[in-house]
Amino acid sequence: MSISTPRILMRARLSRLPLPLPLQRCIGNPPNSTQSPSPFLSLWNRSYSTPRFGQEPTQEISLAKPATMPIAPDVLQHYLADSPPSVVPLQIRPHFEALSDQEKLYAHYISVASFAGTRVVLRQVSPESEALYDFIIALHHACAGDWIKAQKTAGLSDDDRKHFLDYAAQFLGNTGNFKSFGDSKFLPRISQKQLFALASISPVALKHYAKIKDAIFGAESEEVMHLGYPDGGHVTTYYPDSPNITKEEITIVSDFLEGKKLLPENTRLRKVQDGFEALIASEQKDPAKGDRDIEESEWVLEGKLQGKKLRLVYGDHSVEMGMIAEALENARKNALNSTEASMHEQYVKSFKTGSLEAFKESQRFWIRDKGPMVESDIGFVETYRDPHGQKGEWEGFVAMVNQERTQAFAKLVESAPSLIPKLPWSKDFEKDKFLAPDFTSLEVLTFAGSGIPAGINIPNYDDIRQTEGFKNVSLGNVLGAKAPNEPIPFIKESDLDVFTRCRDAAFEVQVGLHELLGHGCGKLLQETAPGTYNFDHSNPPISPLTGKPITTWYKPGQTWSGVFGAIAGSYEECRAECVAMALCCDFNVLSIFGFGDGSIDIDGPAGDILYAAYLTMARAGITALEFWDPKSKKWGQPHMQARFSILQTFLNAGPEFASLDHTAADLSDLTVRIERSKILSHGRPAVEKYLQELHVYKSTADIESGTKMYEGITGVSGWYAETVRPAVLRKKTPRKVFVQANTVVGPDGKVELREYDATPEGMIRSFAEREYI
Ligand SMILES: [Zn+2]
Repeated sequence: MSISTPRILMRARLSRLPLPLPLQRCIGNPPNSTQSPSPFLSLWNRSYSTPRFGQEPTQEISLAKPATMPIAPDVLQHYLADSPPSVVPLQIRPHFEALSDQEKLYAHYISVASFAGTRVVLRQVSPESEALYDFIIALHHACAGDWIKAQKTAGLSDDDRKHFLDYAAQFLGNTGNFKSFGDSKFLPRISQKQLFALASISPVALKHYAKIKDAIFGAESEEVMHLGYPDGGHVTTYYPDSPNITKEEITIVSDFLEGKKLLPENTRLRKVQDGFEALIASEQKDPAKGDRDIEESEWVLEGKLQGKKLRLVYGDHSVEMGMIAEALENARKNALNSTEASMHEQYVKSFKTGSLEAFKESQRFWIRDKGPMVESDIGFVETYRDPHGQKGEWEGFVAMVNQERTQAFAKLVESAPSLIPKLPWSKDFEKDKFLAPDFTSLEVLTFAGSGIPAGINIPNYDDIRQTEGFKNVSLGNVLGAKAPNEPIPFIKESDLDVFTRCRDAAFEVQVGLHELLGHGCGKLLQETAPGTYNFDHSNPPISPLTGKPITTWYKPGQTWSGVFGAIAGSYEECRAECVAMALCCDFNVLSIFGFGDGSIDIDGPAGDILYAAYLTMARAGITALEFWDPKSKKWGQPHMQARFSILQTFLNAGPEFASLDHTAADLSDLTVRIERSKILSHGRPAVEKYLQELHVYKSTADIESGTKMYEGITGVSGWYAETVRPAVLRKKTPRKVFVQANTVVGPDGKVELREYDATPEGMIRSFAEREYI
């Protein structure tokens, strides 16, 4: 899974963790983020979302295309490209420069392999995306990146130029003309006539433009603005050239292939005259029998599709898979240990022959490659965008371990036995031995695919997860990326200096405490088998909430997520966030991260970090409202729901500690006030009281009290729903698109990092200079 962004809103899927998010599995958006999907997304999800794999369909399968409705102009404007998009640099230089020459080469080849799959992603998004990519790159070459010159040659206005560049940056940032977060199409703001004028500056660009001129502006109905099953009127290219393929046919063929034990991630499905072709991504068009995952390659179907043929067709994306295999062969030659070499051997086999069994083997080696200097993963991984939820989108990343942060995290884990007793419960509610969750913080050099998550938890294959494990990584420079001069709503002028100076450091402290101690602490009191308990049943622990012996616990076979159900995800995130807010008040903890010497000094540098952490959380509690849907009165993002409740906890500590201040009726000047000098006396005790309830209800399977408490404090109504939320939406910034550095091998055989401006022009150049795409 990718974390939040992924998965972000994402898509609860498969049998993964109970996280509702996509890109983010656990981490969610950084608390200082105001970015989000289009405001339209929640509406869309509610009204039109297609059932995902593993979910019950909510409607009968329809065999006929539904009648479509033209889009009203006021709705159409929600689909216009962001103007301007939030273009941010993915900062990597110091971490890359810290690598040895061989490590740099190793990283370089994986980076090439990752971006070599760009055309695969484009083909997986929409029929027009690949030619649209060629069009943008052809224009760049025609004007050598001098867009003012292109503007003049084409006779365009400044606005026309800007609108085109904004669209191109958003397109490249999403690797296609549908948002990777929300799956809705976005349209250029430049007119068709002006875009034609721009295309006319180059015969090559004009040739590509001719192929896409209608498709990029196409908006005949709301259905075509969203990815989904073709018979729902939606767009998908996982079923290429098959406008009439039905969900029922997709289901029957997919189930049939599943019965044959053919894994689906690297496939597409095409409907042809006499039946269907399952296209398998591989360099080879006719792999040797011994290299195939199944021997047979053609069947005649029975049942509802009686008499139709089903053929396996190898060699889908053949050129790209060949380039990827070649680059990974070079990575293998520069591998840093034998596990990595074996991993790349299996990748190469998989991408040459189409074998997903070889891919699974690569993932087994990947898990065994513990704590590498250069981390990576590559392949058809996440299945969010196939309407049927089985076929994977191409992605590849390569990242460096952040050494300083890794050391701080290791020290934190070492200190856990002395830190956990400071939390507001007795050892009865704690595990005998602290087990740190697997967690690594990385800095990303390259992330190729439709969008960059904030964290990743893979592989997705449950059989591997259960027997061999998985890796859980947070992508530090993705979480910390921000545009220069990005506005910071809801923070007081007088706090802006300390906030901007310390928020990244504060967030790092927060992430470490949340991931390692937050999710790592606590014990579930269980009757593990009838009559057998993991606590003293004859003399039960005393609840710190009531002062009386506990009366509830997990019964045999019961699990935390099973008992707490739908609220489990957000509730657990909230518990982890509160652990972080409680422990970051400990100056010894701050000193582990290099802030202060452990002595209590709220006005010193370590106090700055603590204050920034509280401001960040309070502000996130406000921006969270964007993720609350007023129609269903539900939260769409578990971390944000949690942060809203923590803001309420601050406010409940009284006006002497925190308040929301404003003078304007529309809250256009809304800010949050946290009394720095009262964080230790008022803030920490308030958080600990809340945390104690969260923790004890979880430990004792007290679903009744836990739900009542959590639904109460995360409930949104009145002023928050009607006044604060609209003010938050008005201040929302577009989702970020990242400009990534490129690597090139110099004449001396050494790898150089090439960075680009964090502008739409720089974004285009960064792709144009990867000539192999
Ligand atoms: Zn978490």
